[in-house]
Amino acid sequence: MNSNSLQTPIVYLKGVGPNRAETLQSELGIHTYQDLINLFPNRYIDKTQYYKINQLQRNSADVQVLGKITHIKSVEQKKGKRLVATFVDDTGQMELVWFRGQKWIRENIKLNIPYVIFGRTNFYNGTFSMPHPEMELQSEHEKGIQIAMQPIYPSTEKLSNKGITNKVINKLMQQLFIETKGHFKETLSEPLLKELHLLSKSKAMFNIHFPKSTELLAKAQFRLKFEELFYVQLQLISKKLLRKQKIKGYNFDKVGTIFNDFYKNHLPFELTNAQKRVIKEIRTDLGSNAQMNRLLQGDVGSGKTIVALMTMLLAIDNGFQACLMAPTEILANQHFNGIKELLSGVGIEIALLTGSVKKSARRVIHENLESGDLHILIGTHALLEDKVQFKNLGLAIIDEQHRFGVAQRSKLWHKNEMPPHILVMTATPIPRTLAMSLYGDLDISVIDELPPGRKPIKTVHRYDANRLKVFAFIRDEIKKGRQIYIVYPLIQESEALDYKDLMDGYASISRDFPLPDYQISILHGQLKPEDKDYEMERFVSGKTQIMVATTVIEVGVNVPNASVMIIESAERFGLSQLHQLRGRVGRGADQSFCILMTSHKLSAEAKTRLDTMVCTNDGFEIAEVDLKLRGPGDLMGTQQSGVLNLKIADIIKDNDILKAARFHVLQLLKEDPSLQKEENHVIRYTYAQLIKFKNIWNYIS
Ligand code: ADP
Ligand code: MG
Repeated sequence: MNSNSLQTPIVYLKGVGPNRAETLQSELGIHTYQDLINLFPNRYIDKTQYYKINQLQRNSADVQVLGKITHIKSVEQKKGKRLVATFVDDTGQMELVWFRGQKWIRENIKLNIPYVIFGRTNFYNGTFSMPHPEMELQSEHEKGIQIAMQPIYPSTEKLSNKGITNKVINKLMQQLFIETKGHFKETLSEPLLKELHLLSKSKAMFNIHFPKSTELLAKAQFRLKFEELFYVQLQLISKKLLRKQKIKGYNFDKVGTIFNDFYKNHLPFELTNAQKRVIKEIRTDLGSNAQMNRLLQGDVGSGKTIVALMTMLLAIDNGFQACLMAPTEILANQHFNGIKELLSGVGIEIALLTGSVKKSARRVIHENLESGDLHILIGTHALLEDKVQFKNLGLAIIDEQHRFGVAQRSKLWHKNEMPPHILVMTATPIPRTLAMSLYGDLDISVIDELPPGRKPIKTVHRYDANRLKVFAFIRDEIKKGRQIYIVYPLIQESEALDYKDLMDGYASISRDFPLPDYQISILHGQLKPEDKDYEMERFVSGKTQIMVATTVIEVGVNVPNASVMIIESAERFGLSQLHQLRGRVGRGADQSFCILMTSHKLSAEAKTRLDTMVCTNDGFEIAEVDLKLRGPGDLMGTQQSGVLNLKIADIIKDNDILKAARFHVLQLLKEDPSLQKEENHVIRYTYAQLIKFKNIWNYIS
């Protein structure tokens, strides 16, 4: 079967029909034959293996037991009756329970004859039970086994309601193999298959859906995972190579007087080694004739701003303008003030452009930008407006990139005929495991060192019951002249409710910390921008001691005198958010604290998150834990990268296969960059098909 007939709509498969086709489409995204063969089982059950009753575990799913029913009886319960059978093997006994269909069971069940039962076990009062087991006489069960490993496909409630059970999917898969004779076009090259001892495509497809043995299943899984990761990497790496070849960039070959003057006379501290290394990496990019597209990762407080500033000075030294875009006004203001101070006496023109800048002031900025009198522009989204035209923008820096989308990034590209160099800075560390697969097309620099003299933030977990002690602690810190953040969760779906939490919290804190001794700021998303600025300003200038806020303060806010971060309902926050919030303190010379408040009811996962926060301040370590807990789905950038749409490989568990795939892609592109060799035609063709149909990897970026 050629690969185009795998594009046959699924409705034509015998046994599907329009109704099922629609359900398969809406529930599993299956539109074509191809989509169906790429529906891979989540797991397999070995139908030849039986559990002994004394081996059962609490709450295990998919348990198969061989035994006999010795008794059956009805038991009265609050509402109606349940039917309970005693089921025994040579190691013990358990119960089978029915709430529905009791009459039929009673009439049809045979006592003292071997049955195979299958289902999920519960454990009550010292006895295992299985509600509504699937059951079969042992004789029939063994006749029916064709394959030892029974695949279990992804399912949804709607699928089972519409009668598309696992058995049905299995049947459809068989039908597909009949219609295609199980021949699938090879998608990897001969040398790769040989070198890695991979199964052929057809053999792998057969064994993933109808495994003949555990060994063959493992080989099939390896081959298909490798293939999937191979093509994702091929796409990422070719894109990167293409960009380097095609996209010419301004050549900043000079390190001039401004940079040197700043470095020698104005830099208020010694750069850390990590900062020096990153600046060197950036300089290499800027002098390479190709456009820079670099991601700068560094934990909160690692000193990214100074790197950004020095990169901008390089642009100016080479006769270009630079801009720095931040996700919020608060942050843009802060950058502007900080950078202005650092540059005082350097002779550089710098301006701030945000939504609140008045029209007349704006006009001046526009003019000075176009004439080139303005060297650095700092601001928010306002920078993206069409009216903002540079004379020669050479460098665009984006801070805290997770707040901006790809589209916005590309808007910056088009401010000139040649795209400016782009530096994206983020404080949300991407675990090393993921960075490679996510950002294969971006270059990455990491600041993995904090400036010297920082005292690690002390983090503790406290239950709500200890609130009085926490408040006493706050009073002591305020007495010492420190300031306090108290943060409430804000989760979009229940914004009204969260808002209420915040206001209740504010009211209760106002009672415990009354005027005139205490002044409190409040900050949340529903305030007008002027009010936000006002509240923020009062806190920054020390007029208020306590800032009650939602997560709007999460990003970038810098108030060095604030040394205590209290996070209410901390169990409701994700790890990376907790870490970002904690990063708001620990910015001054004083010992800082982070107090995670929760109720007593905690899920195991919430407990792990809190323990992780208490144990470590290292953003990368936290990101690794986060990745293990949540999978890659919620991490920044994953939506754009396609790793989410992996059909069979797992970006975390299959990291070794990923590395192998990456290695082979690099080797391939080195030896045969445009895939012209005869032996590589199959790869070129498959790659073209993937891009054309986008049905295996919905890879867009
Ligand atoms: P972030 O990476 O979170 O954006 P910032 O750039 O805001 O961090 O830096 C945090 C603080 O550390 C700032 O007050 C900055 O002046 C200071 N800082 C940065 N680099 C150094 C350094 N090498 N030595 C001492 N202090 C530094
Ligand atoms: Mg920053």
